[in-house]
Amino acid sequence: MQIKDGVNIQGIDIRMRPALIVADELWKRFGQELVVTGGLEGVHSAGSLHYYGFALDFRTRYFELGTIIDLTKLLQENLGADFDVIQHRSHIHVEYDPK
Ligand SMILES: [Zn+2]
Repeated sequence: MQIKDGVNIQGIDIRMRPALIVADELWKRFGQELVVTGGLEGVHSAGSLHYYGFALDFRTRYFELGTIIDLTKLLQENLGADFDVIQHRSHIHVEYDPK
């Protein structure tokens, strides 16, 4: 697992840990090393859970679209309903947001 330069994951909530573990394992299964491209830093939409340490972004640019769709589905299934997994153009966003 790599953390992209400039990305701050210090202060990420401990409840995000399963997302890192599951993503790391899935990325390996699909032949890539996981790269965290978004944490607490940066500018996000107002109310974004990134500001609270409840969201992470994972790089997907080395995958084909079909694989990205599969990964989004697998992450959601493995993490369960307390997490939201959202596919974006350049990354998959995962947040802890129990209903
Ligand atoms: Zn995000």
